[in-house]
Amino acid sequence: MIVCQNIKQLREQTAMWRKNDERIAFVPTMGNLHDGHLSLVEIAHQHAVRVVVSIYVNPLQFAPGEDFASYPRTLEDDLKQLQMLGVDLVFTPDTQIVYPNGDQQNTFVQVPKLSDILEGEFRPGFFTGVCTVVLKLFNMVQPDCAVFGEKDFQQLLVVRQMVNDLDLPVEIIAGAIKREADGLAMSSRNNYLNSADRATSRYLSKALAFCRQQIDRGVNVDEAEKNAVATLQKQGFIVDYVTLREAERLEKVSPADITANTELVILAAAKLGNTRLIDNVRFVKSAKS
Ligand code: AMP
Repeated sequence: MIVCQNIKQLREQTAMWRKNDERIAFVPTMGNLHDGHLSLVEIAHQHAVRVVVSIYVNPLQFAPGEDFASYPRTLEDDLKQLQMLGVDLVFTPDTQIVYPNGDQQNTFVQVPKLSDILEGEFRPGFFTGVCTVVLKLFNMVQPDCAVFGEKDFQQLLVVRQMVNDLDLPVEIIAGAIKREADGLAMSSRNNYLNSADRATSRYLSKALAFCRQQIDRGVNVDEAEKNAVATLQKQGFIVDYVTLREAERLEKVSPADITANTELVILAAAKLGNTRLIDNVRFVKSAKS
């Protein structure tokens, strides 16, 4: 497994693979890898001969006061796991490499509308940071395809929109959410939870599952969302949102618009102590109700 920090070495290697007609799949991460990340690597192997993973904690997507400084960095352990999965190259640039112009970097990628709602509302600038670094990483790696997790469902849609709007020659592949045994979606930020909050955190996926069940049974959407918020608040969560959306543009859907084929998603974000958790459940309404 090649581990490289600079763009020149990365490009030389990927150019060689391209010359040999070897398809390249790319998995961008911020490291502190768990089974969710590793499942994306496995998907990458199914789509290409060569797999490149990046590990880079991108300062541009953290607002002041967020956890950039304390974000877990576990490079040695991450590399061991990636080696075991047969990854071909791990790109671990530092910020001088990714943003050599520092404050002089004045080009940013914005995907308005889709980036302004939900996560974008609670984390202004977040998707600009994500899209800018993802486009830069795409230009560095020049992959044929890239795998993103449905755990960050809005991020997946925003990246897809950027790729479509800018005609990027990268196929975006989605990986299903990996969960702990009690249903909590795996996340590097779960490590922040103390043991009491870790026990409580399972209610987030449960509240989503129950909300879905209620909507499926024909309970009024507002009521189902409010029930989920109330359940979470009772458990001690500070809830940013629990909301049903159609799963392409994340627009609100009225019951009349929901048919048996409408792809739906319930998205949630809530804090336990200082730890902000997100989760979602995707479904189509069953035909019976
Ligand atoms: P991060 O390191 O948090 O930036 O995540 C890197 C990639 O892993 C993103 O595409 C995430 O959506 C994905 N990911 C994170 N957690 C999970 C999970 N529990 N299941 C599947 N994919 C995940």
